[in-house]
Amino acid sequence: MSALAHYDAIVVGGGPAGSSCAARLVEGGAKVAVLDREEFPRTKLCAGWVTPEAMADLALDPSDYPRRFLTFEQIVAHIKGLTFKLSTPQHSIRRYEFDDFLLARSGAEVHRRNVKNIRRENGHYVVGDEFRCDYLVGAGGTRCPVYRSLFRERNPRAKELQATTYEHEFAFEWSDPRCHLWFFDKGLPGYAWYVPKEKGWLNCGLGGMAEKLKARGADVKTHWRHFTEVLRRKGFVVDADYAPRGYSYYLRGDVDVVRIDNAFVTGDAAGLATRDLCEGIGPAIRSGHRAAETILTGAEYRLDDISSFSSDHAAIRGLLEYMFIRRKTRLRARAAVRAGAPGA
Ligand SMILES: Cc1cc2nc3c(=O)[nH]c(=O)nc-3n(C[C@H](O)[C@H](O)[C@H](O)COP(=O)(O)OP(=O)(O)OC[C@H]3O[C@@H](n4cnc5c(N)ncnc54)[C@H](O)[C@@H]3O)c2cc1C
Repeated sequence: MSALAHYDAIVVGGGPAGSSCAARLVEGGAKVAVLDREEFPRTKLCAGWVTPEAMADLALDPSDYPRRFLTFEQIVAHIKGLTFKLSTPQHSIRRYEFDDFLLARSGAEVHRRNVKNIRRENGHYVVGDEFRCDYLVGAGGTRCPVYRSLFRERNPRAKELQATTYEHEFAFEWSDPRCHLWFFDKGLPGYAWYVPKEKGWLNCGLGGMAEKLKARGADVKTHWRHFTEVLRRKGFVVDADYAPRGYSYYLRGDVDVVRIDNAFVTGDAAGLATRDLCEGIGPAIRSGHRAAETILTGAEYRLDDISSFSSDHAAIRGLLEYMFIRRKTRLRARAAVRAGAPGA
């Protein structure tokens, strides 16, 4: 007799991908558990910009969301001394609150576990010698153990698509309620952001492609010093006790091996953040929903039609991709593996 607890599906990771997947599975009557190594609410480094499309995918009316929520009517882009005002209503949340809200709303059983061991046994997956399931969903972000155990060999990540970030979110009485983005300042192969949140919170940070940054002999800490000086000089943040932290993750490359047998990868585990603005919350939600639908209905699990870009504007996409990532990104290792690998 096995002492393993059996579930229809286990979702590893309780971020937006995991909670969206779990919510759909629970709705569909599946017995599902979410395993996350952190106790929620937990800190997730993120600017917390959320698109109206992501809110619609979550069927979440802003007026029903009980935590901090701000809508900016404008995004102000600063590029090489020029300023462009884009009138496009977008939202901000605090991930600390948002992820906790979504996970609780999912109705799934949640266990705090740092998942390390995953094995296939008699047609099931055994997770951490404690849980057994028919379907396994990897939603553990860029270092997802499901990706590492089952997908990495078939779908290796490309170094040139690694983004490195540095940011700080803190209580601050901001006066400009718009979102500001500074592109390519001081040769940053990416951008810096100022994202205000409701009721006196602010997230400031920057991100760029790690390989390009290194090739330029630069690092995020040097750019951070420059950026906070810009914030001070322009009067956005004159005085702050910054305690920034860094995090790196992979941007959208080819994501063709996203299912192997009954195991799936979603969100950052599948490398879905966009190539222009590195936005990953929306793609995480969408992929989580799709994995659940596949489990419930047998529908095909496809992510290739989830856009690789945040902007619909071809010129903006092209420019940002060119500046962030080498235009001739050659994913040689992946192509070689794919050429020899059977389709998923
Ligand atoms: C600095 C920064 C700013 C960003 N800003 C934005 C933005 O403004 N808007 C936007 O759309 N995107 C942004 N992104 C990207 C966005 O944060 C991610 O794309 C998004 O969080 C992906 O969601 P996910 O559910 O796939 O993974 P995550 O949100 O990373 O969730 C993964 C979960 O898995 C858990 N986990 C990991 N390993 C294990 C393990 N071994 N066992 C159990 N659990 C585990 C983690 O604790 C975590 O809770 C930003 C990213 C960074 C780093």
